[in-house]
Amino acid sequence: MEPEPKLELDFKNTEIAFSHKSDKELKKMARLFRLMNNPALVQIGSALGLLAINLRLPFSKYFIKQTLFDQFVGGENLLDCQGAIDHLFRNNALTILDYGAEGKSTEEELNHVMNETVRAIEFAAANTSVPVVSTKITGLVDNIILEKLGRKEALNEGELRQYEQLRERIDNMCSRASELGVGLFVDAEESWIQDPIDDLVDEMMALYNHDKTAVYNTYQLYRKDKLQCLKDAHKKAKEGGYILGAKLVRGAYMDKERDRAEEYNYPSPINETKAETDKMYNDGVRYCVENYKTIASCNASHNTESNRLQANLIHELDIVKNHPHLNFCQLFGMSDNLTFNLAEEGFNVAKYVPYGPVKEVVPYLIRRAKENSSVTGEMSRELGFIDAEIKRRGL
Ligand SMILES: Cc1cc2nc3c(=O)[nH]c(=O)nc-3n(C[C@H](O)[C@H](O)[C@H](O)COP(=O)(O)OP(=O)(O)OC[C@H]3O[C@@H](n4cnc5c(N)ncnc54)[C@H](O)[C@@H]3O)c2cc1C
Repeated sequence: MEPEPKLELDFKNTEIAFSHKSDKELKKMARLFRLMNNPALVQIGSALGLLAINLRLPFSKYFIKQTLFDQFVGGENLLDCQGAIDHLFRNNALTILDYGAEGKSTEEELNHVMNETVRAIEFAAANTSVPVVSTKITGLVDNIILEKLGRKEALNEGELRQYEQLRERIDNMCSRASELGVGLFVDAEESWIQDPIDDLVDEMMALYNHDKTAVYNTYQLYRKDKLQCLKDAHKKAKEGGYILGAKLVRGAYMDKERDRAEEYNYPSPINETKAETDKMYNDGVRYCVENYKTIASCNASHNTESNRLQANLIHELDIVKNHPHLNFCQLFGMSDNLTFNLAEEGFNVAKYVPYGPVKEVVPYLIRRAKENSSVTGEMSRELGFIDAEIKRRGL
């Protein structure tokens, strides 16, 4: 038999990457990414932007909406996102909806986040181009509870009640997702609150991942212990007769983690070098693809090599390209070169599309701006791709 031809994925194909952008949109994008490339500007802009929104200064909302919001957020509510969802679907990419609420504490706010997430799950069920909704546990309980549990401290009566409410909120979301055949991703957060999150998500997976995968936990491979955690969770899932849902990320809180470890004088949980994180991440990808029958995974990364690795492995192992257990995902407004070239090849690829009122998504927007201001990381390549496409179009 003829050997399978090698998979030729060209992530530098900017024509495919930006085919959905008009000349005007592309130029607007270039202006924004050029501004973000300046770390000092991002630093000052983030502080001022946050202040302006908190003080409700005139035009602050309008200014943010015209710039970062437009680039990185789907809309202020679910219906607003329909345009972005349809746009992605026309280009063979799916949508993962993410209500952008973080760090909530009053009961009213926490119930609002749960209700909004359930609404998103119901919206997804009616929308074949939205297979998954994402959620953050820090939007569903006061952080104090998670921190106490993370320190293995006993909760008092009132705190136990709050924890029970959290379990109910999560269970409501997971059961609705399972009932309607929608996936629910649970984001990973800081290491000192992650253990109680892992425990809850493991419990939900054991309940709802039997026939289909409804619930996915997130594994941050910048943490020294997380590759082993992924393997342990897989073992537990196999013993419990359910499918492990695993979203892989490198991890978003590196500086915060290292600073805290230094401040409280404990060993940093984060790998010492980027190369170690890359190796662990890629080992995680390999592990998930090799075990795809019992792990439903999502490679959530903007790293070219990690995406290429998964595509090549799927090809080499002769697995159908759009197997429902093998997925790729990037953030809305970033790495279109990966998303649309993978989509063009027939892989399952989605964009994480956050939505919410401007004030709620400002912390998310600041993280995106900071990420794109780095001069050495993969993200700064974004501007390079946009410029290459502008040149190719002769603009
Ligand atoms: C769809 C999606 C969902 C996400 N969900 C989450 C989530 O739930 N929780 C979360 O924490 N993050 C999440 N992230 C962010 C993610 O963790 C990364 O911060 C981001 O994607 C950058 O990593 P990368 O794999 O794209 O590629 P790269 O740009 O190649 O890697 C950058 C990352 O490498 C690591 N790194 C950089 N320098 C070093 C160093 N010196 N030593 C050790 N490690 C280093 C850091 O994690 C850094 O963010 C998500 C990202 C995407 C695309």
